[in-house]
Amino acid sequence: MIKLKNVGYAYQQRPALADISLRVGEGEFWGVLGPNGSGKSTLLKLLARVLPCQQGEIQLAGRPIGQYRSRQYAQLVSYLPQENALVFDFTVQELVLMGRYPHQSLMGLPSGGDLQRVRQAMASTDVWGLRHRRFSQLSGGERQRVLLAAALAQEPRVLLLDEPTRALDLKHQLQILETVFQQQKARRLTVILLTHDLNLAAWYCSHLAVLKNARLMAAGPVEKVFRVPLLEAVFDVPLKLSPSEDGGGQVVVDLSRYRATHGGKAPGNG
Ligand code: ADP
Ligand code: MG
Repeated sequence: MIKLKNVGYAYQQRPALADISLRVGEGEFWGVLGPNGSGKSTLLKLLARVLPCQQGEIQLAGRPIGQYRSRQYAQLVSYLPQENALVFDFTVQELVLMGRYPHQSLMGLPSGGDLQRVRQAMASTDVWGLRHRRFSQLSGGERQRVLLAAALAQEPRVLLLDEPTRALDLKHQLQILETVFQQQKARRLTVILLTHDLNLAAWYCSHLAVLKNARLMAAGPVEKVFRVPLLEAVFDVPLKLSPSEDGGGQVVVDLSRYRATHGGKAPGNG
């Protein structure tokens, strides 16, 4: 579905991505992990065509992405950016309905089908109750959910999500990932999700890509990439697997090892 070949990007001579080659198959759910500043958002902006590809080539469904017309690209790809500081003076429902624009005839009114999809998308992100509120007056987490509803209402083939769970409480984090996961299963949606939550990524994603200092350190199926030594090297913290009762495991920071090398006296520990 998506193919990157030796992709590079620099901001004023400073490389943010270097020599990235990656293939993402249709219906795969990729998680992209990496420390702050490793190039994750830049990668997503290139895929969303927010930034031009400076080096190498990106293809979508066999065609260089620059060859698609905007409306056509918007029918295929929807993008939830990391920053949503834009102040829209629209109601929540108006905004989610905008997700349908790429599918509507020019100057056409929304059809019953459009409204149905908008309603479903809003229900799945739990914003139906907010539909008459102004977007500008919502909290960060509520905005995040509204923008995701708009992205889902767009019914893309590829969904690009830049830390969609960042401002959310635990319940809504899970609800969002669960919604994306269901869509991915039901519609063979291809998803690329940037996140800092290693365990949620390992749970929901089929594949992981790991970036560090603008470079791709590892990419492949979760079971190949989700390894303590690799993650330790990438994030530069000691980690350990914490087994859970159901036989699964979660990666957690090994605080005693961390404090043994970085810490002073532990608070509350004598
Ligand atoms: P991540 O999403 O992994 O935190 P980014 O892709 O946002 O990383 O940033 C990668 C690098 O590019 C960082 O060093 C960041 O400071 C730099 N960068 C990002 N956006 C800009 C910009 N608009 N102008 C200049 N440098 C930028
Ligand atoms: Mg980012």
